[in-house]
Formats: sequence, C-alpha cells, structure tokens
Amino acid sequence: MPELEHFDLVVIGAGPAGEKAAAQAAYFKKRVAIIECEPEPGGAAVHTGTLPSKTLRETALYLSGYHARELYGVAVELDRSATLPRLMSRKNAIAAAEARSFRQNFAKHDVRYFCGHGRFVDEHTVSITSAAGETRITGDFVLISTGSKPHRPADIDFADDWIHDSDEILTIRDMPTSLTILGGGVIGCEYACMFAALGVGVTLVDARSEILPFIDGEIVARLKAALVKMGIRMVQGQRWTKVVRTEKGVTTTLQDGSTLENEQLLFAAGRTGCASDLGLDKVGLAPDSRGYIPVDKNYCTKATHIYAAGDVIGFPALASVSMEQGRVAMCHAFGFGYKKAVAAEMPYGIYTIPEVSSFGETEETCKEKKIDYVVGRALYENNARGKITGDLEGITKLVVDAKTRKVVGVHVIGERASELVHIGQTAITLGATVDVFIDMVFNYPTLADSYKYAAYDCLAGLSAKA
Ligand SMILES: Cc1cc2nc3c(=O)[nH]c(=O)nc-3n(C[C@H](O)[C@H](O)[C@H](O)COP(=O)(O)OP(=O)(O)OC[C@H]3O[C@@H](n4cnc5c(N)ncnc54)[C@H](O)[C@@H]3O)c2cc1C
Repeated sequence: MPELEHFDLVVIGAGPAGEKAAAQAAYFKKRVAIIECEPEPGGAAVHTGTLPSKTLRETALYLSGYHARELYGVAVELDRSATLPRLMSRKNAIAAAEARSFRQNFAKHDVRYFCGHGRFVDEHTVSITSAAGETRITGDFVLISTGSKPHRPADIDFADDWIHDSDEILTIRDMPTSLTILGGGVIGCEYACMFAALGVGVTLVDARSEILPFIDGEIVARLKAALVKMGIRMVQGQRWTKVVRTEKGVTTTLQDGSTLENEQLLFAAGRTGCASDLGLDKVGLAPDSRGYIPVDKNYCTKATHIYAAGDVIGFPALASVSMEQGRVAMCHAFGFGYKKAVAAEMPYGIYTIPEVSSFGETEETCKEKKIDYVVGRALYENNARGKITGDLEGITKLVVDAKTRKVVGVHVIGERASELVHIGQTAITLGATVDVFIDMVFNYPTLADSYKYAAYDCLAGLSAKA
C-alpha cells in the first residue's frame, strides 16, 4: 500500500471557519489540506446563508424602489416574472465571486484543496470520496468545520414546491403572492422584510412572546413598528401545530386552533449541525442531540488532536464568529500564541429593513445585572445625513454606566446600522467614557455624527443623577 500524503493539518469543510483556520495555519508555514464536498468552497456563508440573503436584500430594495418611495413618492410597479430571475442572478454572481476569493486564498497560502466528502477512517486518517473515487490523507491535527443545515420537522413536507426551508428559498421558481414564515429569529425576520419589500403579503409567526429577545427592547419595538408599517402581519406567542398543502396554497394551523392561509411557506426555525456522516465513531466522538460537536474553550474536542469550529459546534452560529473560532483553534493547536480566545462580546447585525445592530449591554441586561445606567438617543430624523437618505426611523442609542461614565452598550436601528455599531463597539472595547464622543469631531453630514448627539443626551441623564 503506498504511503498516504501527510499534512500538519487536515480541515474538513471549506466554509468561513475552515477557510480562516486553514489560512491561519498555512500562514505560519504548516502543511495544510482542506476538503470540501460541494462544487465550490464558501459554505452557507457564500452559497445559502449570509451573502445570498444580504444580496437579495439589496436587490429587493433596489428593484422595489423601496427607498425611492419614501424620498420621492415614486411608486414602482414590479414585474413579478422578471423580478425573481434578476434577484437570483445578482446573488449567483456574488456567490461565484466570493467562492473565487476562497480559492485564491487557498492558492496564496499553498493550501491543498480536495473536492469530496471527508470522513474519518481512524484518528489521523481522513478519506475523501468523490465521483472520481477515494483518496486518503493523514494529518497531525484535524479541524471539523462542516457547518450546519436547516432543521426540517418530519411532519412538514419539504418536497412540496411551495414549502421551503431557508436554503431552498433561494431556488424558488415563482415569486410567492403571499408567504407564511415560521420562526421570528434573525433569518425569519430578514426574509420577512425582503419579501415584504417586494410586495409579497407576509405573515411572520413566532412561538415566543417577543422576537429577537437578545436585542434591546426599545429597538425591537421600533423594528416591529417598521415591520407592521411594511405590511407584515405579526403572529407572536403562537406555536404552529400543522402545515398542510391545499389546492390554493399552504394552510398553517396554530395552537389556538386558528389557521393561516398563504400561497407559500418558509420554515425558518432552527438549524442542526452537519456531523452525522463524518465517521466520528472511528475517533471516539459523538455529536449531541442537535448534531453539534462538543468542544472546550480552545475548540478542542475530547480527542486532543481534533478541533471543531463554526456552526458545527452550535451557538452563536455566525460567520463572523466562526472565522475567529477557526483562527483561535489553530493558534491553540500549533501554539502560535498571538490569539488566545474569541472576544467575549460579539456584535449582532440583523439585516432587516431597517437594519438593526447591537453590541454590549441592553437596558434589560443592565436591570438584570443591577447596573445603574443612563441612555442617550439620537434620532436620524434630526441628523442631516438621515434627512438626506430619507431614513427618518433610525436611531443610535447609547447605554452608559452612571457611576463610571463608561459606554457599556450601543444599539442602532436604521441605514448602515451594522457598520455604525463598530464605532460604539470600539469605544466599549477600549473602556472609553461617553466623553470620547463629546470630544471627537465627526465628518459632517454623517450618520456617525449621531454618536455625538446620543452622547449629549446621555450627559443630560448623567447630570440628572448627579
Ligand atoms: C439565511 C442565513 C443568513 C445568515 N446571515 C448571517 C449574517 O448576516 N452574518 C453572519 O455572521 N452569519 C450569518 N449566517 C450564518 C453563517 O452563514 C454561518 O454561521 C457560517 O456560514 C458558518 O460557517 P462554517 O464554516 O462553520 O460552516 P458553513 O459555512 O456551513 O461551511 C461548512 C462547509 O463544510 C462543507 N462540508 C460539510 N460536510 C462535509 C464533509 N463531510 N466533507 C467535506 N465538506 C463538508 C459544506 O459543504 C460547507 O461548504 C446566516 C445563515 C443563514 C442560513
């Protein structure tokens, strides 16, 4: 038997976690192989999740003339048959360009790229199977970064053309006339806005009493008001009990016995780890009940040379965090030392219409932790750039510790929220007081300038407490 090709690191799965881990190890001159079972690298971030959904959002806003309606009172008549192909073609172009960037990154770092399904044969040997046959390689270390897939309840018929999960919604052939979305998490809320912007009648159903419970309550209230203004019907605190395809569409029965009739349905509640077909039994590992692989704080599994990072380990299941987990795992495995942990706090970016982004303490967490706090708000309607862009619903909100004057939370709803939040995140990470925004000069006119006025608003609260 010929000797197997040996690597310092074998990575299974070329999504964001795998890509950054592979590049990290290779940058420090480790011999790295990466295995991907789909035709192109990029994972959910590039092909079915992050970038496609964000591209669809931008395209939906553009094609629907959503912003123009507010600014110029222009009503855009959508050609439904032309809209869907145009929506999808831009998404496909972005995915292709991004997959190319992944391949270029592997080439730049001399990472060996294998196409096929990776599976453990024994502790250090991984088999790669594809239409071309089987290859085996060995690695000192192995990283599992195989991601996650949408959860599919057994009693919902996903084979039906009008019933979709969050992967499959990207391949629909007909723009829905109306859509029930089950799940008011980030994915459900984002898709609800996109379809509503395109003129689809959307009903968003969530079992919890409130959507997005990790976001500041005031921001959620403002978002909900915006969703309702877009025409989205919100059904909250209701579980669904049955989903049935009828002649006209899809009927959803709710726990109170009421029914919802819409043409199509998107199930967007929950995901599960891709760990079932990896031969984990060959290396003494097993996924938990939701398909996630247990790891320690260094992303190391029970087998000390096998790491796991990204969606396959569960929460928070974000591309942003998955990349960092991959890097930290490799620093630990090879002792690179410069990056020891993923930052304790992460920002949330929610690409609804309007966008929401958040970092640090909310009013609710301050109350729970008994932090004496003040808040300051700046409304986009009072901000010159906000007026120009016509985003009059936006707000930048700061949460400040009343004792130390330190900024402890920032919450933004409105245009560019997911970019703006990083200004507050930097201040919080550096332990800055609210005075930093009082003293800074901001470009004018900018939405960033709203930080200064939110800070002035905090000063009013602080002096009231003094
Ligand atoms: C609709 C939607 C919107 C999202 N929006 C955002 C967002 O705005 N911001 C954000 O940060 N995150 C977002 N996410 C989450 C983000 O997409 C994931 O957190 C991220 O893709 C996880 O990266 P990963 O590398 O762990 O896994 P993945 O990206 O899933 O990549 C795993 C890769 O492993 C491959 N693979 C699996 N099994 C094998 C095997 N046995 N052999 C070889 N290859 C294998 C898969 O084909 C895949 O390419 C979104 C997700 C969805 C679904």
